[in-house]
Amino acid sequence: MKNFVLFGKPGSGKGTQAEYLSEKYKLYHISTGDLFRKNISQNSNLGLLAQSYMDKGELVPDEVTIKMLENEIKENPQSKGFLFDGFPRTIAQAESLDKFLKSIDMQINATIALDVDEEELISRIIDRGKTSNRSDDQDIEKIQNRFNEYNMKTSTLSKYYKDQKKFFEVDGSGSVDEITKRLFELIDSFNLP
Ligand code: AMP
Repeated sequence: MKNFVLFGKPGSGKGTQAEYLSEKYKLYHISTGDLFRKNISQNSNLGLLAQSYMDKGELVPDEVTIKMLENEIKENPQSKGFLFDGFPRTIAQAESLDKFLKSIDMQINATIALDVDEEELISRIIDRGKTSNRSDDQDIEKIQNRFNEYNMKTSTLSKYYKDQKKFFEVDGSGSVDEITKRLFELIDSFNLP
């Protein structure tokens, strides 16, 4: 089993690249952002709760997010591996993920961060906001808040995974194809069975 985490600030292309990676390496793609948006569209209690945080560009509380993630893994036992996109975003989430995966005899093989500077990200997000219908993509204050959340809570995860020798960084600027190529080259270099 191969399990990867894709990191990156909002707009760094995690979702787009996750599609290509999950297809090539036969991984089940789990995006916590997409799961929350699905719950919102279904008007579930979880959706209502998540929306109040997402609307402000804040992280949804760990407890709720971790439970949702674990359920998604349990519901897909046939998967050959998972690609986590947008999770973990806090140390508590990373620790829970390690603990949970260990309990089912699995582990994270590698985490990959897409590195893009904030100026490029803002123009990408505003562009996406024209078609994504996401209110958190259309307001500069919310976008800035999402960056702040990343810088305060998520960027420290690089140390967490560096300590486990599982942290890698890829230049996330340029065309989608160029970035995909960089990711494929990196993952192929792991020589995982
Ligand atoms: P994303 O689609 O990954 O950009 O996530 C959109 C929003 O969903 C974030 O700004 C958070 O409000 C929420 N979210 C997604 N994943 C997580 C997570 N792992 N922990 C907490 N909140 C999350």
